[in-house]
Amino acid sequence: MTLDLNHNWINGEKIQTDNTISVVNPANNQVVGEVPSVYEEHIQDAIDSASKAFEKWSNNTAETRQFYLEEWAKNLLDKQDSLAKIMTEEQGKPYAEAFGEVEVCAKFIRWFAEEGKRIYGEIIPPSSENQRISVIKQPVGVCGLITPWNFPGAMVARKVAPALAAGCTVIVKPSSETPRIAIAIFDELIATGIDRGVANILTGSSTLISDKLFNDERIKKMSFTGSTNIGKTLMSKASEQVKRISLELGGNAPAIVLPDSNLDNAADAIVDNKFENSGQMCNGINTVLAHEDIKETLTQKIIERVNKIKVGPGDQEGTQVGPLINEKAIDKVESLILEAKKQGAKIETGGAKADNSTSDLFYQPTVISNVKHSMTIAQEEIFGPVAPIIAFKNENEAIEIANASPYGLAAYFFSNDINTVYRVSEKLEFGMIGVNGTQLSVPQAPFGGIKESGMGREGSHYGLDGFLELKYISLSLN
Ligand code: NAP
Repeated sequence: MTLDLNHNWINGEKIQTDNTISVVNPANNQVVGEVPSVYEEHIQDAIDSASKAFEKWSNNTAETRQFYLEEWAKNLLDKQDSLAKIMTEEQGKPYAEAFGEVEVCAKFIRWFAEEGKRIYGEIIPPSSENQRISVIKQPVGVCGLITPWNFPGAMVARKVAPALAAGCTVIVKPSSETPRIAIAIFDELIATGIDRGVANILTGSSTLISDKLFNDERIKKMSFTGSTNIGKTLMSKASEQVKRISLELGGNAPAIVLPDSNLDNAADAIVDNKFENSGQMCNGINTVLAHEDIKETLTQKIIERVNKIKVGPGDQEGTQVGPLINEKAIDKVESLILEAKKQGAKIETGGAKADNSTSDLFYQPTVISNVKHSMTIAQEEIFGPVAPIIAFKNENEAIEIANASPYGLAAYFFSNDINTVYRVSEKLEFGMIGVNGTQLSVPQAPFGGIKESGMGREGSHYGLDGFLELKYISLSLN
């Protein structure tokens, strides 16, 4: 695909640089395009323009902001096919998943376009006769938004839409692995005729861009989605100015299968979730915890399903699992499997790179059993198409294993007993719990984690609150 995506947007204008970053298709190692690698002065220009644009944008009515957001969503759906192709080309995910992700972008944008009209304040009963207490919500200011490569469209939409709906202006820095889809999505936002400087996008060195954004006092909030290690570094940077920050970080989701559950439903849900996006999902299942009474049956049901998964380039009809994003990702999967095997884990299916003449980044959908909670593969975010199965003896042991992780993003469990559903949901230390299913990311629900999986929520009115400040006004009547 030879689309012109070799630009950034600053102050409503396309900019290009002589220095560029090459973007590679992980399914064939071909360079698909070049994007700018911005210099300090570009970052400065973006901050200047977003700061200038803030005054007018923040004073617009919610209906005006809704208009631009609705137009943006419409533009994305009009170009759903071509956007999905760009996404598949640089990220590797199957076209059907990429097509669905563009729709998810539009859904998030539309939801926040509406919700922006419901940024209500509050009147509080006073403590004296002549006092009046009101609370208003105001946009936080100019926001810096840093996004990852695994959902390179949805993560941009899930941050930009609430920020704009709240009245903030933005500077987005997408992942260098997948910058072209972010730029293409931005092209559609700029095409709505939105005021200059309201929405800016910069590609290039992550440290250069993020340092400038963190160090500038005009940036009032940073929102980051990515790995926990980088999130920790950014959290400490934010402390220098007590800058607002929200962090959507890594996860280590358990899927606990209790003996009273419907095992076919559990196997379907586990395989659908585990192998989506080649297992590169923050809320993706990391380990399957199977009760010892049903472990054998469940393992067989999972293997049957996994053996039917078709691996291949994302643009090939019927592909369900594409390549991993880069060499570092596949090396990590290989070393985790190697170590687990050495420590006694059994490969039930898969367990090696998948044959492919065009790229070394395909990995076979894999199931491993005899896994112990102490193994690195159970402790770390695998981020690959591997399902390790750990056996447990009783509910308390499963909860203990799940809660021992420093991560707390998503957990899933399967049970047909309503008492168990409440008891286990309340005991699991995670921000999101999926019971008898794994769908979590919808615009109206608060997506996010606890512990080392981050702070703040995206989606829902809680996600909008992340871009708003509370102001309490006490009026003394004469
Ligand atoms: P990453 O390496 O942390 O990168 C994420 C973003 O941060 C990219 O834009 C990257 O830019 C930038 N970045 C890298 N180093 C930086 C630094 N020192 N300072 C500032 N920015 C920096 O994460 P990833 O590999 O792209 O994404 C995978 C991770 O994201 C996984 O851990 C996954 O669980 C997590 N994730 C979480 C959620 C959630 O909602 N909780 C959603 C999706 C993904 P460059 O590419 O230019 O380096």
